[in-house]
Amino acid sequence: MSIKKLDVPGPKAQAILARDKKHTSPSYPRDYPFVMDHGKGAECWDVDGNRYVDFAAGIAVLATGHAHPEVVKAIQQQAEKFVHISSDYYHDPMVSLGEKINEIAPMKEDVGIFYANSGTETVEAAIKLAKYVTGRPRFIGFLGAFHGRSMGSLSFTASKFTQQERFFPTMPGVWHVPFPDPYRPLFLTQPGDDAGDAAVDYIENVLFADALPPDEVAAVVVEPIQGEGGYIVPPPHFFPRLRKVCDKHGILLIADEVQSGVGRTGKWWAIEHWNVEPDIVCIAKGIASGMPLGLMVARQSVIQKWSPGAHGNTYGGNPLACVAALKTIELIQNGMMQNAATVGEYILDALAEMQSRHPSIGDVRGRGLMIGVELVKDKKTKAPAKQLRDAVVHGCFERGLLTLGCGRSATRIMPPLMLPKLLADEGLQIFEDALTEAEHQYL
Ligand SMILES: *Cc1c(COP(=O)(O)O)cnc(C)c1O
Repeated sequence: MSIKKLDVPGPKAQAILARDKKHTSPSYPRDYPFVMDHGKGAECWDVDGNRYVDFAAGIAVLATGHAHPEVVKAIQQQAEKFVHISSDYYHDPMVSLGEKINEIAPMKEDVGIFYANSGTETVEAAIKLAKYVTGRPRFIGFLGAFHGRSMGSLSFTASKFTQQERFFPTMPGVWHVPFPDPYRPLFLTQPGDDAGDAAVDYIENVLFADALPPDEVAAVVVEPIQGEGGYIVPPPHFFPRLRKVCDKHGILLIADEVQSGVGRTGKWWAIEHWNVEPDIVCIAKGIASGMPLGLMVARQSVIQKWSPGAHGNTYGGNPLACVAALKTIELIQNGMMQNAATVGEYILDALAEMQSRHPSIGDVRGRGLMIGVELVKDKKTKAPAKQLRDAVVHGCFERGLLTLGCGRSATRIMPPLMLPKLLADEGLQIFEDALTEAEHQYL
């Protein structure tokens, strides 16, 4: 054991950090000072020449890895033709992307697409569409959710209270209910119970019975696997039952696949793990390998109900982003999604073994390359070990691995989908070394 620590941040990084401090908003939550120089696949290098294995992928964005030559070429070729024209006009990359999304969307019905530039914009579009189409004013969201930081999506975001602090009132009418966490269920359950039943029972038998008229609810907004909230995979009954409740009351089901989508979990969309069809899907992060692109995808029978002028934007369907997305989808289809499933299984197995060697690993969970490791003070009490988690994330940085935390005390593994096993091994070794040191310090 004991991997050599890098001397970071080095002199060139320090110079950039000092300049960054002068004009960049201090609101960005930055866990450690990595200063990027260049990347290739699942590796990247800082400005002082230190090499890193990338288990963060720019927050699950670099689906095909850093600077995939075919993605780069597609962007270059498009840039020479035209960089922008605006969503007032028409062009082939935008239409071609729509056709491709129609093929892979998790609905049997044909879909229509609103083109945006980020995750939060897709959630805003989904909220507006749901209000417009149903004529209803209220929504249901989940504790631990993350849907973005603009005033509509922020009203649903509930994974850390600093995201909400001093911004109220955001959009009114959002009711938060517990998300079923099999590791830390909020409702009393017997062994063998499905925490998903309890969560949906709460909506039906408590919320709808006592407080919230269901025919005033436009939509339920939910992440198929909670991302920022801790990489929490809901139990089997949750989505099928949630779908039934929505159908019963004419409520739309909006799946926010911004982090979990685009092949990351070994299927195109995480909600497909439960064979449930949403009415609207929000897509961003991994869809264009780093070009800013968001897509709000809705069943035709829903999206055809809003009229010209109901929603729009300037950059929607940006051609550079669209060609990057088309190439990304092709690469994921031709091997990377399979790799995410295979290497994801491999990492989950390795982590399960690591769990038996370490007192602080309370839970290991995930699908494909969306993997969470929950760190606790004690496996019996499951008390969150936040300081230890932060020390692990920082310890990884010092040893040449990029990771991020999520939830109260989890770390997440969300590498590019092309991650080779060799780099998975290297990253896991660094992770275990950092974990060993943090356990000595904090347990
Ligand atoms: C990151 C994220 C968003 C917000 O995306 P931005 O591009 O940062 O606006 C929304 N939903 C989920 C699930 C996310 O992970």
